Amino acid sequence: MSEFDYDLFTIGAGSGGVAGSRRAASYGARVAIAESWRVGGTCVLRGCVPKKLLVYGTHFAHEIEDARGYGWTVEGALEWSKLIAAKDRETARLEGIYKNLLSGSKVETILGHAKIAGPNTVEVAGRRITAKYILIATGSKPQLPAIPGIEHAITSNEALDLPALPKRVAIVGGGYIAVEFAGIFRAAGAEVSVLIRGDRILRGFDGDVRDHLAAEMTKQGISISPGTRVARIDKAGDGLRVTTEAGATLGVDAVMYATGRIPNTDGLGLETVGVHLDKAGGIAVDEWRQTTAPGVYAVGDVTNRVQLTPVAIAEARGLAETLFNSNPIPNDHGDIPSAVFSQPPVGSVGLSQEDAERILGADGVDVYRATFRPMKHTLSGRDEKTMMKLVVESASGRVRGVHMVGADAPEIVQGLAIAVKAGLTKKDFDRTAAIHPTAAEEFVLMREKVKR
Ligand code: NDP
Repeated sequence: MSEFDYDLFTIGAGSGGVAGSRRAASYGARVAIAESWRVGGTCVLRGCVPKKLLVYGTHFAHEIEDARGYGWTVEGALEWSKLIAAKDRETARLEGIYKNLLSGSKVETILGHAKIAGPNTVEVAGRRITAKYILIATGSKPQLPAIPGIEHAITSNEALDLPALPKRVAIVGGGYIAVEFAGIFRAAGAEVSVLIRGDRILRGFDGDVRDHLAAEMTKQGISISPGTRVARIDKAGDGLRVTTEAGATLGVDAVMYATGRIPNTDGLGLETVGVHLDKAGGIAVDEWRQTTAPGVYAVGDVTNRVQLTPVAIAEARGLAETLFNSNPIPNDHGDIPSAVFSQPPVGSVGLSQEDAERILGADGVDVYRATFRPMKHTLSGRDEKTMMKLVVESASGRVRGVHMVGADAPEIVQGLAIAVKAGLTKKDFDRTAAIHPTAAEEFVLMREKVKR
């Protein structure tokens, strides 16, 4: 008999925690998982999944408009509350599936807030439990600056559950969440103002992606205000008044903050065993997800490195392989593809032109870019352009970055991410036959380098 109650105790039943626990159990480990909210976590319940359902749901507005150019006589009106109810049914269904997956994998689920109480020891739901290893996978939560009136603001948590569509929305921030919700609210019919403190949206993305998406959002009537810092939010009649540091005011019905997410590290008893945080407030881990306390590991958003579900899942599965299958797999954060489900969406993998030039020097990088009106919009009449871009290392010909803004960009770039991860060259792209007529074919047809 083992000296511990469990081989692995996981805190947090989100994407990372569930994936790691199930993988560990599949190798015969005795596993328990604690969850203080709902099984499924941010991605399934108040992140990726419900967000994408609202993107699908609201994007019908564009489809209806586009259909008219193809001879359809269609009108449509969105009943926001029905969309939210349908989304809630789906997330509840998924929560049930996650619970079943855990029990089917023989992982014991314990509902309650778990806390580390000492070496190899956790307290949860009035129980004191011992485990050989502890995995912290508690995720992250929205971060809000402490300005007067911030209590009137909502975050993505509430935005996904709004009972009615606000007529005028101010969104503060210009990252993934801000541009995704700007698209959702705008397509649903709201007036949308995006307030960004910097000069451009989507910091970290390729400059052409940032500019192209901002231009497309603007064409749809979304107002993007650069260099805008909010000083305060006040109630004003039935709505809210946003006052900027420059003294400008904006009347709206809802203010949504999307200014980053911070790790959920409070109340976990980290200090009892010496789990340290890094400068950014995430749990400090090495490439093996080992924290500063022996036997305690952390994956996903709580480590505050790459806040993406598939990364958390890969980290957690890698840990289970390492601990329970004699198959050591360190974290691999190279060439992680990502998408922004804006309207139109972004797909991106590898280096931006700016990062490539910083690493390889301006002369070490070749850039290929195509901007065009997709065939669908020749008849729909929609004034929307697609942008595709390859960032190539001149010396080796290796494609170091693939970027796209346009319909289906996430689907297209997922496939091309394999090519980038595999280190394929521009020549490999060139000798690949096109599929015609598609938008994606441009990626194997680009011949002209962009002149500097
Ligand atoms: P991001 O880090 O993507 O963006 C934060 C934005 O808020 C930036 O525009 C930043 O501006 C701005 N900002 C930060 N602090 C302040 C402040 N005090 N006042 C005003 N503006 C501020 O965060 P999100 O909240 O959008 O998303 C969190 C993470 O969740 C993402 O980084 C991503 O990893 C993940 N996510 C992924 C999605 C996907 O894969 N599709 C979808 C949604 C979320 P600046 O640029 O000037 O720093």
